[in-house]
Amino acid sequence: IPDDEDIQREDNIRCLTMLGHFGFECLPHQLVNRSIQQGFSFNVLCVGETGIGKSTLIDTLFNTNLKDKKSSHFYSNIELKIQTYELQESNVQLKLTVVKTVGYGDQINKEASFQPIADYIDAQFEAYLQEELKIKRSFVDYHDSRIHVCLYFISPTGHSLKSLDLLTMKNIDSKVNIIPLIAKADAISKNDLQKFKCKIMSELVTHGIQIYQFPTDDETTTQVNSSMNGQLPFAVVGSMDEVKVGKRMVRGRQYPWGVLQVENESHCDFVKLRDMLLCTNMEDLKEQTHTQHYERYRCCKLHKIGFTDVGPDNQPVSFQEIYEAKRQEFYDQCQREEEELKQKFMQQVKDKEMTLKEAEKELQDKFEHLKRVQQEERIKIEEEKRQLEEEIINFYKMKAGSETLQTQGSTNIKKD
Ligand code: GDP
Repeated sequence: IPDDEDIQREDNIRCLTMLGHFGFECLPHQLVNRSIQQGFSFNVLCVGETGIGKSTLIDTLFNTNLKDKKSSHFYSNIELKIQTYELQESNVQLKLTVVKTVGYGDQINKEASFQPIADYIDAQFEAYLQEELKIKRSFVDYHDSRIHVCLYFISPTGHSLKSLDLLTMKNIDSKVNIIPLIAKADAISKNDLQKFKCKIMSELVTHGIQIYQFPTDDETTTQVNSSMNGQLPFAVVGSMDEVKVGKRMVRGRQYPWGVLQVENESHCDFVKLRDMLLCTNMEDLKEQTHTQHYERYRCCKLHKIGFTDVGPDNQPVSFQEIYEAKRQEFYDQCQREEEELKQKFMQQVKDKEMTLKEAEKELQDKFEHLKRVQQEERIKIEEEKRQLEEEIINFYKMKAGSETLQTQGSTNIKKD
């Protein structure tokens, strides 16, 4: 292809270099400008035991001091600490949300440790789904709190993953992009580190745990991403301390035997993590969150409510049809419930009537019995009264007889 100068020389045509862009080739610039104006948001979930270096790594990654006080080891339950920060680098604004586990791994029974984490991730999906289902949606000012990446901090034991790690990752791997990290990697020797990395990866495969894979379908990043996929889990070291190395001040950790430079790739994988997370794959992490994890949640939730894309005959069903069917189903259910309630009520009334009748009969019988007893008593008393009266009459008769006899006796004495 002849260059501009050749053409000018051959045809004696004056060529001008373009000073700006025109036409639809400006589209990407419009997008960039709009994105810069709106700002970016990124939500990170840090899962790891207390004191494993979560806060320090986040500070080192975003070059800030997010001033987080140290957590205690005496929480009876796992909690999640959510902090949102507005960060700025040149003219790019980033709304960063960091969610950290508090008390993770400190309980005796660790069986349900993953539950609050899984519930939190689902709750963010639910909030987004509710916004989506609103008639009047306002995504412009909606703060999307869905977790874009989970940094899983593995203890630098050099041995293997703990059952807590396997259980938690297994339970959240379909909800979030997991990037496993070997924390405090300065505690492990170079030889042991390589073996530890291999062991972790083979354990993840054995237990069928899906971790995030840096995408390899974009030509510009295929090489670097596939190379990085082979270096997972990243062995990281965090520090906000500035240490003097030669004439330079570097971020690192000073030990009696030397300095570990956080940003030195031969000392640890911190730079690899930062590049992969912030420079190369942040957009992909967000996209995967929306197209894979959220989509799975949404699909599952709508199925649970009863929505489906195809009917029992495998034919597509429209939203309207499902809505009508659901409405009819709801109406029928209401009718059924109303009928059931009516029957129940009638039965209750019948039962009550029966009990009342029985009580009434019982009372009547009691009354009759009492009446009979009273009548018998009256007859008995009347008989006694009659006998008494008879006795009184007899008594008076006898009295009168004896008086007569007495008077006759005294008359006879006088005569004598
Ligand atoms: P968190 O509870 O997981 O947030 O842990 P912190 O970030 O508060 O760190 C706990 C302690 O570990 C602090 O004293 C840190 O200085 C130290 N620490 C953090 N990162 C590293 C690291 O990479 N290597 C070593 N050796 N110590 C670290």
